[in-house]
Amino acid sequence: MKDLLRRWLPAWPASCAICAGWPARPICQACLERHGRPLPRCPGCALALAPGLERCTRCAEAGPGPLQQCLARVDYAHPWSALVARLKRDPAWAPLLARLLVDAPGLPALLQATDLMLPIPLSPDKLRARGYNQAWELTKALRRQLRDAPPALPGLLQRQPQAATQHELAREQRFDNALQAYAVDTAAGPRLRGRRILLVDDVMTTGATLQSAASLLLAAGAAQVSALVFARTPAPTLD
Ligand SMILES: [Zn+2]
Ligand SMILES: [Zn+2]
Repeated sequence: MKDLLRRWLPAWPASCAICAGWPARPICQACLERHGRPLPRCPGCALALAPGLERCTRCAEAGPGPLQQCLARVDYAHPWSALVARLKRDPAWAPLLARLLVDAPGLPALLQATDLMLPIPLSPDKLRARGYNQAWELTKALRRQLRDAPPALPGLLQRQPQAATQHELAREQRFDNALQAYAVDTAAGPRLRGRRILLVDDVMTTGATLQSAASLLLAAGAAQVSALVFARTPAPTLD
């Protein structure tokens, strides 16, 4: 019983996970309205958009990249960055984040256009240290909360052990590094060919990881690749 409680308590806190208000659901209505209202986002990179824009200027100028579509639920900022940090310490937070993700506008259409969900893998070292991949926990939790969710496969996309950590690199190095960082399981060709893939991750920073994973999957025969993340690092503000 104690173990069961310990397993569920972090995801079902007695008070709001953001403001510690009481009584509350995992996140109280006031916090959801204050911090969790879905924003209009660029379909190419999931950055929040200024009113009236359909795409961010960068995506509009660059044209279509390897990612068909990119969907995020919240900005990677207060208070959501703290929740992501909790997910990285305890997988019992995955259902709460997944429940928020279910409310992302456009998610039903995106899932309808998906044949296979793939979590972004962790490096073997990180996986060993953490004991689980938070992107896979999020994927599983999301599937449990959806009816008719597409199947999901961990392990098809693999992380090479020697790759540098993305945040240690300059922006222009990130895409090259990410391209070298991932590999597709060579036996997976038949499972990918002609399929519409949805990559799932907890956080999208520059998008280099997702873009390069998408390039690899397209080269391996996927018909199209989109991405779904819980939180998107906002665009830097220009001084
Ligand atoms: Zn609250
Ligand atoms: Zn964009």
